[in-house]
Formats: sequence, C-alpha cells, structure tokens
Amino acid sequence: MKTLQGRSAIVTGSTSGIGEGIARALAAAGANVMLNGFGDAKAIEALRSGLQKEHGVKVGHSGADLTKPDEIEKLVADTKLAFGTVDIVVNNAGVQHVSPVEEFPVAKWDLIIQLNLTAAFHMTRLTIGDMKTRKWGRYINIASAHGLVASPFKSAYVAAKHGILGFTKTIALEGAEHGVRTNAICPGYVRTPLVEGQIADTAKARGMSEEDVVRNVLLAAQPTKEFVTVGEVAELALFLCSPSANQINGAALSVDGGWVVQ
Ligand code: NAD
Repeated sequence: MKTLQGRSAIVTGSTSGIGEGIARALAAAGANVMLNGFGDAKAIEALRSGLQKEHGVKVGHSGADLTKPDEIEKLVADTKLAFGTVDIVVNNAGVQHVSPVEEFPVAKWDLIIQLNLTAAFHMTRLTIGDMKTRKWGRYINIASAHGLVASPFKSAYVAAKHGILGFTKTIALEGAEHGVRTNAICPGYVRTPLVEGQIADTAKARGMSEEDVVRNVLLAAQPTKEFVTVGEVAELALFLCSPSANQINGAALSVDGGWVVQ
C-alpha cells in the first residue's frame, strides 16, 4: 500500500514550479490531489490526466483565484465533493514583485499579501475543523528563506513570508492535540518561472545584466552556489506527511544551501 493511499490533498499554485513538484510527489505516494493555478488549459489537462493515469489516484483541477475568498471557498467545497475529505493542504501559490519601497505599486503590495499570506488563512479556516474531527491533518506552508531574512526591494514578499511563519506557528499550536501538524518549508532559490521573472526584475531594479543577477545576487546568498531543485522541496513535503514527521510541528525548515546561517 502506498503511504498516502486514501488521503486527499489540495496543493495551491500547482500548475507550475514547486507546487507542481509537490503535487506529483503526493500523487505518486497515493494521495488524491486537487491541482490549482493558472496556465494553458491543454497543458493543465495533460498534467491532471497524466498524474491520474500514472498513479491510479483521482486528480482534479480548480482555477480558483486565491486572492478571492469566495473562490477559495469553492475550491475547498469542490475538493470535498470530489474526494470526500481534505487531509493535506499545501499553501504554495505565491507571486513576487521587486521594487524599491517608495515606488512599490500599492496594487502589487495588496496582491502579494492576499495571495502569499491571507489565502493560507482562508484555506486553513475552511479545512481545519474536519481535520480536527478526524484527528489527522497536515498543513505545509511554502514560505521562503525570505521568511527568515530580508533582501532589499522585496518588502511585500518578505513581509508576507515572515507573516506565514507566524501563522504556521499559531496553527501548529491549535492543531497540536488533534493530530494536525503544521509546518513551513523555507526554500532558497529554485529556478522556476517565478525566479525567472525575478531575474529580469532585479536586473532592471539594480541596473545589472541578468547573468550578473544570477551569479552575484541570487546565488551569492546561497553558500552552495547551486539552485535548490523542485524535487528536493517536494521530497521534504512528502516526508512531512509521513508518520516519522509526527513530532515536527510549527517548524520552519530551511532548504537553502545554508543561506540563512550566514
Ligand atoms: P511559479 O510562478 O512557478 O508558480 C506559481 C503558481 O501559483 C502557479 O501555479 C500559478 O498559476 C499560481 N498562482 C499565481 N497566482 C495565483 C492566484 N491568484 N490564485 C491561484 N494560483 C495562483 O512559482 P514557484 O517558484 O513554484 O513558487 C511557489 C511558491 O514557492 C511561492 O509561494 C514562492 O514564494 C515560494 N518560493 C519560491 C522560491 C523560488 O526560488 N522559486 C523560493 C522560495 C519560496
């Protein structure tokens, strides 16, 4: 029997990057998975049906915009309808914007706080009651090294990621005696579409070439001088769902090549 057989998961922002990697890992471990996120409809359907066929689990997709609480409510309701329960929630969807604070667009600030922080509150408030009743649940919040340290020009992102770590600790306490475990993963740089966008934005903000940004800004912070891989983050998320992780609760787990120890 696969380790997550009979469990059901929602992975937000799983049509790309880290979320897609986590969705693949959970499905391979036997969980039903509700994908979420935007993108090309044909590519999303190929991902959904491919995972379903390959792993013999149910896989759905919701295009819910997680900046809208009513769409989050529908995502959770649709998942319960499709799978019966929501046992694992991976709060992963996130966006970035790089700009000096005095020029930071107000709409971008609001978007980043809503998606990178407030969406996790809604996902949690709508699912934790059932998890407590069933005495089993897992929240995995994808924070960032920027949940623990700052970089210039990322005020909204750093604020949201520090916020999600505080939220993670609080929910860890609220679920502790009910079999619900809540943890955060804090990756360093992973070369996903989000980071590709940042390379271009940082080059503009700092007046540097994109090659210089990769070498002297992004990987300058990462002592291994290597990008984190999606697979490395996904394997940790899977471990956090395993019985061996039962006493890991409220942790902020760094996967950053040593970035935050400096
Ligand atoms: P990505 O851009 O590859 O994927 C983002 C996903 O979020 C996509 O599926 C997209 O469709 C979805 N999304 C965007 N706006 C949405 C909305 N309003 N509603 C619902 N879904 C929405 O990004 P990624 O690099 O895989 O990042 C995933 C998470 O990991 C983010 O929270 C990010 O902050 C975090 N993270 C990334 C890195 C990195 O280096 N890539 C490092 C640390 C933390």
